[in-house]
Amino acid sequence: LNTLNIDNIRAEFPILDQDINGKKLVYFDNAATTQKPQVVIDAISNYYTGYNSNIHRGVHHLAEKATSAFELSRKTIKEFINAESTEEIIFTYGTTDGINLVAQTYGRSFLKAGDEIIISTMEHHSNIVPWQMLCEEKGCVLKVIPINDEGDILFDEYKKLLSEKTKIVSVVYASNALGTVNPIAEIIEEAHKVGAVTLVDAAQAMSHIDIDVQALDIDFLCFSAHKLYGPTGMGALYGKKELLNKMPPWRGGGEMIKEVTFEKTTYNELPYKFEAGTPNIADVIGITAAIDYVNKLGKKNIADYENELLEYATERFEAISGLKIIGRAKVKVSVLSFVIDGIHPQDIGVLLDQQGIAIRTGHHCTQPLMQRLDLVGTSRASFAVYNTKGEIDRMVEGIEKAKRFLL
Ligand code: PMP
Repeated sequence: LNTLNIDNIRAEFPILDQDINGKKLVYFDNAATTQKPQVVIDAISNYYTGYNSNIHRGVHHLAEKATSAFELSRKTIKEFINAESTEEIIFTYGTTDGINLVAQTYGRSFLKAGDEIIISTMEHHSNIVPWQMLCEEKGCVLKVIPINDEGDILFDEYKKLLSEKTKIVSVVYASNALGTVNPIAEIIEEAHKVGAVTLVDAAQAMSHIDIDVQALDIDFLCFSAHKLYGPTGMGALYGKKELLNKMPPWRGGGEMIKEVTFEKTTYNELPYKFEAGTPNIADVIGITAAIDYVNKLGKKNIADYENELLEYATERFEAISGLKIIGRAKVKVSVLSFVIDGIHPQDIGVLLDQQGIAIRTGHHCTQPLMQRLDLVGTSRASFAVYNTKGEIDRMVEGIEKAKRFLL
């Protein structure tokens, strides 16, 4: 059972120790962004107080110190996802940025009219819109894997969509709206049979699931640090070296060049070819602290504990009359979406906030999924390693109170 000391863990997250509307904060909006432990806050603040400096070209002490801390993050990410080399890790401002990079470079260069891109019904807007923009420009066709009412993709339907026309399969590993964990290894295997490249949106999966990009044979993977106890506006794109090498750069500017003349510019090597301009150095450094933190707790321990919370919450929520859980996939991360008969999801969110409980309501940036499920939105509680069963009890009481007030 749970081997983590949750009281100690909670003490490492200073934000948790506060009252909201006169009640102790319960933070259940972790799928939107997780809170940050002190070690991450310190890593960022130490950079600014101790060695703020621009990276890579500096010859002075601070620039060297900043560069090595920055590059250490690349190595930390490489090891975290078991990439073959640090050249395959491109810093981005998050999952959204990574997907756009692939669409705008790989997509624009190698796809042509009539080529097909496959996504799933449960994609976040960030894994829909960049492909639609590409399709509009190039005349490609977007195909969507259907799901059942429980929120599992229909694998046989996916297989039927695949053909020699399929060039990209881009699928979310774990759904932020339903919690569904997709059978990513099988999805990739089938995509490769028709010669398509694969992109995995690992925004939600990173903090819950061990990901080995080589074992899974992933071509591209995107994630955001802020859902992994790290800073916002920072993430990485993993890409297989041979793919990244043949892709043109995207943003032009400093850092990404080898030599510039007015007549012609040559580009830098991987990974710098895709990193134009001065990056978000402090937050890149913060990711090392976040990953070290997750590694210290152990991803499996974190996942086991979160699953325990999910099971407990599922059981307790099932007992609330009029409440329906949305997302009954076979394998889930700790996301619990629900609706209550006769109550708008937003009203639940507002009334819980009055009791100091932070959840998310709405479409969760998955409007097509909501349309498929015939919902305007859901209320969503999502759990992280610092949450407790006591907090879930408080939420259940909160929902009962909201129901008495609204119904
Ligand atoms: N995909 C999924 C599954 C997500 O949950 C999110 C964030 N809600 C994103 C993509 C986008 O991440 P970001 O906003 O950090 O770019």
